[in-house]
Amino acid sequence: MTTPLDELVARSNRIGDDPSLVVYGGGNTSAKGTITDHLGRQQRVMWVKGSGADMRGSVDADYPGLRLEELEALRSFDAMSDEEMTDLVARALLDPGSRRPSIETLLHAFLPFTHIDHVHADAICALTNHAEGRRVTAEALGDRFAYVDWIRPGFELSRIVGDLADYDGVVLAHHGLVTWGSTTDECWEATRRTVDAAAAYVSAHRVAAGPPPVHADLSDDEVEQLLLRLRGRLGRRILRVDERLRPVADDPRVEGIVAGGVSSADHMLRIKPRSLVVRSADEAPAAVDAYGADYEAYVARHADLMPEGFRAHDALPRVMLIPGLGAITVGVSNSDARVLADIALHTHAVAADVAAAFGTAEPLSEKDTFEFDYWPMELYKLTLKPPPPPFAGFVAVVTGAASGIGRGIALELGRLGASLVLADLDGDGVEASASDVAQVGPAPEVVIGDQSDEDVVRATVRSAVRAYGGLDGIVVNAGIGVTGTLEELTLEQWERAQRVNLTSGFLLTREAMGVMRRQEMGGSLVYVASKNAFGPGAGFGAYSVSKAGMVQLMRIAALEGGPIGVRANAVNPDAVFDNSRLWDDGLREERAAAHGIRPDELEDFYAARNILKRRVTTADVAASVAFLLSDASSRTTGAVIPVDGGVAGAFPR
Ligand code: ZN
Repeated sequence: MTTPLDELVARSNRIGDDPSLVVYGGGNTSAKGTITDHLGRQQRVMWVKGSGADMRGSVDADYPGLRLEELEALRSFDAMSDEEMTDLVARALLDPGSRRPSIETLLHAFLPFTHIDHVHADAICALTNHAEGRRVTAEALGDRFAYVDWIRPGFELSRIVGDLADYDGVVLAHHGLVTWGSTTDECWEATRRTVDAAAAYVSAHRVAAGPPPVHADLSDDEVEQLLLRLRGRLGRRILRVDERLRPVADDPRVEGIVAGGVSSADHMLRIKPRSLVVRSADEAPAAVDAYGADYEAYVARHADLMPEGFRAHDALPRVMLIPGLGAITVGVSNSDARVLADIALHTHAVAADVAAAFGTAEPLSEKDTFEFDYWPMELYKLTLKPPPPPFAGFVAVVTGAASGIGRGIALELGRLGASLVLADLDGDGVEASASDVAQVGPAPEVVIGDQSDEDVVRATVRSAVRAYGGLDGIVVNAGIGVTGTLEELTLEQWERAQRVNLTSGFLLTREAMGVMRRQEMGGSLVYVASKNAFGPGAGFGAYSVSKAGMVQLMRIAALEGGPIGVRANAVNPDAVFDNSRLWDDGLREERAAAHGIRPDELEDFYAARNILKRRVTTADVAASVAFLLSDASSRTTGAVIPVDGGVAGAFPR
C-alpha cells in the first residue's frame, strides 16, 4: 500500500529533478497522515523535508515524521525565536534520532492540507523581484493567490501563511511559492500549473530582444591569464569556467543583473549575495580586491546584527561573470564549483528575465540580505557537509600515473582532496588510475602522451589551468628502467633513458615554473628520483645517471624557484614493486641475475638489504610526496628524502 510518505518522497523527487523549481536543497514539501505508533496509539503525523536535504534523489530518511497535534498547538504562541522554534519542533519528532526538520516545518503544519509543496521557482521569483512584484503577480496568477512581502522564514512567516488557507496558494517575494492539494497529484499539478502560468506571463512580457549581444570570445591565452591572475588573488581554490552563463555575461545589462542579487534568498548560502563582473585579466586583481572591500564594509555596517559566536565569511566572490567567456565559479573541487554555477545560472537568469520583462531587478534590502547571510538557521546547513579535506583546492600534475608509484601517489593525493591532472603514455592505464582516484576524491583530468614531447607537456600544464584555474604542485614521476653496462648500452638506449627520465622532468619544470610565476602563489615541485641517484648500481648506468641528473635538476629548480616561493624537493625510493611496470620487460630477471638470486627472490632481497628490513611500497613514497607538496614542508627546499628503508651502503646520502 502506498503511504503518504511514499507519495511525498516520489513527488519531491519529481520536483527535485526540475532545477527551475528547486536547486540543491532549496524548497521543502510535506504530507500528513495517520500512523500507529510504537505504543499502538493512532497518531496524526506530518512528514516534512529535513533541513538542507536535497529533494533530488531524496529517500524516506530525508523526511522526518512529527506529531501533528504538538505542532498545531504551537500556533497559540505569540512569538518564538528561531532557536525556541527549532527546540519545540524537535520535541514533536516521532524519532528523536531523525535529521533536523526544515525551518519551514510550522508553515506546513499550520496549513490544513494533506500535501504541500514549497518551491523556489525561477518564474515566481521573476514575478516578485522588482518594484512591481505585487501587481505583476496578481496579473499573472489572478486573485486566488496571496502575496507576502519578504520576511525571513520562521514562526512569524508560518503564522502569516497559515492564515492564508482560503487561497489557492501563496507567493513569497524573493523566495518562492507555496501550493497544496488534498492528494499528491493535486498538489503536484497545482505547483506545475502555477509555475507554468508565471513563466508564460514572464515570456509574454519580455520586450522583443534585439539581436543577441555579441562579445568577442576571449582567446585561450586570455582565459589562461585571467584564471591565473584571479587564482593569485583567490588562493588555493578551484576555478571552473562555465560557458552556460555566457549569454548573461555578454548581456549589456550585466551590471544591473548582478546588482539584482540572488533570485531566491537561500542561493546566497552558496554563491554569496552578489556576483562579480570581471572584464579582463589586467582588471581582475583590482576587481577582486574591490569586491572584498565592499563585502567587508557591508559586514561592518551591520556588525550589530551579527549573531553571537559567528564571524564574517571570507570576503571573496564565488561567482564571476566574464564577458566573452561565461562564468568562473570558485569551489574546493570542480564538482563543488559546478554546483555554484548551476545555482548562479538560475539566479542570474531570473534577474535577466526581470530586466527583459519588467525593468531592473531589485535585490533584498541590505539589512534583510545581511540577516539572511548570517542567519544561524541557514548556516546550519553548511555544518551538514563534511569539512574540506587537507588538499581541497590544491591542483597538481602527476606524470607516470598509469601504474606503480605514480598511480599510488595519485590515489593518495586524490584521497586527500587534491584536484589532479594525471599524465601517462599508457592511455588505458592512466584512465584506469583516473577512475580509481575518482572513487576516493575529485575526478581527475587525464592527458595521454609522451612527457618528453614539449607540446604534450605544455598541454598537460595548460589542462591544469583550464580545468582548475592554476597549479600548485607537480610530481615528476614518469620514468623507465634501462639496463646494460656502459660497454653494452647503445646510444639509443642511453638517450632514451635520459629523455624519458630526465628531459621530461626539465620540460615539466619549465612549464610549471612559468605558470607558477604568473600565478604569484608559489608552488611545490616534487621529483621522484631513486636510491640509485646517490647509490648507483653496475649495469644500471643509463637509469642511475638520469636519476642523478634529476636530483641536480631539482636543486637548480629550488635555487631558481626560491625567489617566487616555488619549492623543489625529491624523494629517493628504492625497490618499490607493488603494481610497478618498472620491473617488466626483463628488468626483474636482469637485476636478480646481477645479485645472483632468482627473480622471485628480488623483493625480499631488497628488503633484507635495508636497515629497517622492510619492503618499500608505493604508499610509503606517496606519503612522503604528499608531505613535500603540502605546507607542512613549507620551509624545506632543495632536499632529498630517502624512502628506501635505509640503505647503509648508500651513506652519506
Ligand atoms: Zn523556502
